[in-house]
Amino acid sequence: MPIVNRIAEFHPEITAWRRDLHMHPELQYDVHRTAASVVEKLKAFGCDEVVPGVGRTGVVGVIKGKKPAGSIKVIGMRADMDALPIEEATGLPYKSTIPGKMHACGHDGHTAMLLGAAKYLAETRNFGGTAVVIFQPAEEGGAGGKAMVDDGMMTRFGIEEVYGMHNYPGIPLGEFAIRPGALMAAADHFIIEIEGKGGHAARPHFSVDTVLVGAEIVSALQSIVARNVDPLHSAVISVCLFQAGSTDNVIPQTALLRGTARSLLPEVQDLLETRIREVVEGTANLHGAKANLRYKRSYPVTRNHPDQTDFAASVAREVVGDAKVDTNVNPVMGAEDFSFMLNERPGAFIFVGNGDSAGLHHPAYDFNDGIIPVGSSYWVRLAEKALAA
Ligand SMILES: [Zn+2]
Ligand SMILES: [Zn+2]
Repeated sequence: MPIVNRIAEFHPEITAWRRDLHMHPELQYDVHRTAASVVEKLKAFGCDEVVPGVGRTGVVGVIKGKKPAGSIKVIGMRADMDALPIEEATGLPYKSTIPGKMHACGHDGHTAMLLGAAKYLAETRNFGGTAVVIFQPAEEGGAGGKAMVDDGMMTRFGIEEVYGMHNYPGIPLGEFAIRPGALMAAADHFIIEIEGKGGHAARPHFSVDTVLVGAEIVSALQSIVARNVDPLHSAVISVCLFQAGSTDNVIPQTALLRGTARSLLPEVQDLLETRIREVVEGTANLHGAKANLRYKRSYPVTRNHPDQTDFAASVAREVVGDAKVDTNVNPVMGAEDFSFMLNERPGAFIFVGNGDSAGLHHPAYDFNDGIIPVGSSYWVRLAEKALAA
């Protein structure tokens, strides 16, 4: 079965929802308008239960099928609702109306597609058991997925398997990509505070120069991926902030570095943390400076479960055809807080092509509305097939 006909009929309506969300981006947990709009629509579709306030501002909708239940009784399907603190530069007629905020990751599209599927599923109910639609806040760094899990969502709604989807620029429109195992990286964050001895720029021998120490730490950190990590494994260390000094003739007393470390394997994650600590402390000691490292593990690896990945791929193939589903896509070093849900229940995360658009988090990015029939059909067929007797 290709694109679901009824979903194709909804395409203009779902597109209108998507563009309305695009015009009104909200950040982190502060997705009140978006969540209210989701609640209103789910109620209008006739969902059996609509529960706001899960994980602070998340929304859960429950749709019961009319057929006898199969071996799997309840599946969860998740979309994210939050936008980013970016000034939009698309010039689109439906561009963001809120200065400094935009939907630059396509979560407007994710929310609209899952709403479209919910409308269809509530209308037709051609499945057994229960389809649960999950709309989460704060994917962009706020761990909203974890907040919903911590709020007891999985047990409260009896979710047995959970699925997620993200659009992906560079993958052609109408194509899917997935892989079993690690699909996206663990994202750790570090803050390094360097304390030296400030002084006159012309008398460096009486100072401990934190600019030099910071520069050497940045440089030495690069040796970890190059010289300590197995060349066949994946890792990234990026220092993204370096603050020191305020003028050109004073050696600053302190310097601040911040960055991120990414990995796909637990042993690599452990290695990165250990070596970053050793390199930071060792380099600071070498110069008589002190360095304080704060290292925080944030989103875990997004790890697809093999059986559910095969199942998700089979659904994708039904929707777009065998040739348009890549089941062995390379993992990416970006991170996703759907990982917290996959750590709780078996499931799979899939990429859907956004075509040749600007990249995610770019001010010129826009979700491609051509995805809508593909993405909504995927959700609909996933529920109908997973919940078949
Ligand atoms: Zn994003
Ligand atoms: Zn995203």
